Amino acid sequence: MKKRFLCMLLALMVLLPVFAFAQEAEESNVGEVIVREGLAEIEDGPVGENAPFIPEGMLEDADEGDRAVIGADNRSSVNPSKYPYSAIAYMEVYGKCDCSWTATGFMVDKDWLMTAGHCLVCTQHQQWADRITFYFGYRSRSDYLYRYNSQWTAWTDNTLFAGDNSYKDHDWGYVKLNKNVGDTTGWFGMRYGMADSEYDLEWFNVAGYRNGKIQTSVGHAEAYNSYRVLHYADTEPGYSGCPVFDNEYYAVAINTAHFTDGTANIGRRITSQLYHDMQSNGF
Ligand SMILES: [Zn+2]
Repeated sequence: MKKRFLCMLLALMVLLPVFAFAQEAEESNVGEVIVREGLAEIEDGPVGENAPFIPEGMLEDADEGDRAVIGADNRSSVNPSKYPYSAIAYMEVYGKCDCSWTATGFMVDKDWLMTAGHCLVCTQHQQWADRITFYFGYRSRSDYLYRYNSQWTAWTDNTLFAGDNSYKDHDWGYVKLNKNVGDTTGWFGMRYGMADSEYDLEWFNVAGYRNGKIQTSVGHAEAYNSYRVLHYADTEPGYSGCPVFDNEYYAVAINTAHFTDGTANIGRRITSQLYHDMQSNGF
């Protein structure tokens, strides 16, 4: 009897660390996508701005010489650990179908991130994201400023599955994180409910991850309709979900797609409705 007890104890001692490890490995990046049937139309919605946050000593120094022009276009590569790039996430996303893809998102508060709606779905299988790891200041899987690998909740629009082009107007997504990420990474301000004329003839920046490398470029923008802006900064497909932002680090749109004829890029405006929707979920 005593021997059996000892055996059990021994087995427990061997197994316990395994259980502990399994639990830790499962400390997980699983989240839930909450799908909305469009945003509530509101009259006289909020118009204004939300301030950016720049962690001390992290602002990119333009004279540092780490900005290099790539090729003939106006894209540059930058230091991903310096603000504002530190506030941009390289997202590794796994769908419920087990497909994986990468995307870009950007912090807009200490625990809120914006991205494009289609970054949250496997369009091939029409399956929502199941697991996401967010890297900030990413150079490689072992070289980054911050990695967020915990639970998240995302909101987006169901028009992605409408089978027509209506999703192009509603390609927004935002994510609530469980930890204070922004104090380390910084975050972008937001200008929301902007009038058409405020986009016209302005120069804006975009910065996003392509194959794990962050690049940035500039171009002017113009209103296209009440949901979208066109902008003429050079972008790449991986830039989906990256910020379109002004020189004071205020995001004015979410970069979503190339325009059909390939001459421009599309940004989803941060409309009053979108801002109001974030507020209704605790922003
Ligand atoms: Zn899939």
